[in-house]
Amino acid sequence: MSVLIVGSTALDSIKTPQAENPRLLGGSASHASVAASFFGPVKLVGVVGADFPRRYLQLYERHGIDLQGLQVLPGKTFHWSGEYEANMNNRRTLLTELGVFETFNPTLPEAYRDTPFVLLANIAPALQHHVLDQMRRPRFVVADTMDLWLNVALPDLLKLVKRLDGFVLNDSEAQQLTGEGNVFVALKKIHRLGPTHVVIKQGSHGSILSSPQGLFICPAYPLRKVIDPTGAGDSFVGGMMGYLAAAKGPIDNHIRRAMTYGSVVASFCCEGFGLKRTTKITRAQIDGRVKELEQLTRF
Ligand code: AMP
Repeated sequence: MSVLIVGSTALDSIKTPQAENPRLLGGSASHASVAASFFGPVKLVGVVGADFPRRYLQLYERHGIDLQGLQVLPGKTFHWSGEYEANMNNRRTLLTELGVFETFNPTLPEAYRDTPFVLLANIAPALQHHVLDQMRRPRFVVADTMDLWLNVALPDLLKLVKRLDGFVLNDSEAQQLTGEGNVFVALKKIHRLGPTHVVIKQGSHGSILSSPQGLFICPAYPLRKVIDPTGAGDSFVGGMMGYLAAAKGPIDNHIRRAMTYGSVVASFCCEGFGLKRTTKITRAQIDGRVKELEQLTRF
């Protein structure tokens, strides 16, 4: 089965203490779509401007990503720029130029509307709603978000969360949303907002799932060197949804393994700028790291 992914499709300019890389292919939907593409078909919904390099469109195509839902409009592509501190965890946004995103109105191609798995990757909650409104009875809908939307669009976000099967957010966002510093209490509070499946991401410490089956602690792959963590969260949720869409049978039979796959794709993402490393890996390399994680956590 395929997964529909809506989110930002961006040019990212990223600065770390070691290097500076301008106008890389980025955006939540780009990272999530490439991650999901290792497992099965992906339908992308997004918008880029006339300045979007052709080689980036070709890169999506090489990953078999369906681009019928990607609008190319006159104007500039969304441009985001961020700078990391030496610890590679703290990040400062230097610039956000919305460009064609400012007036983006995603209209789904007819062929997209019956897609069973829907990932509403990070983008304004009003747009996430708009995409969901056009879907016909999806099987499993998951959304990701960011602190910006908690600050500027909380009512929209809360309405969206009610419509979700799964909600994925990071630990500081969970704390901001619930006012609760304890992650396990925060998980319970987020369930009360609607979703049956809640995942809290904890960066290099992995992630925690709370679902009708109870808790699952998903490890992060132990990386000794992080080049650029931009998009790791999107790669995680993209890998997870791609794996779930490809699996047969009930979601809860597969979601733990799906998270582990997401975690491994995210680890590759951190090993290069933007999508440079993720676009060079193979399914066999992903399987290899999943095996290592199994060995590291078995007792
Ligand atoms: P992450 O590292 O998981 O937080 O994701 C980083 C990605 O989010 C980058 O590729 C950016 O292009 C994208 N991004 C940054 N700000 C926004 C925003 N306001 N809306 C949507 N996507 C964004």
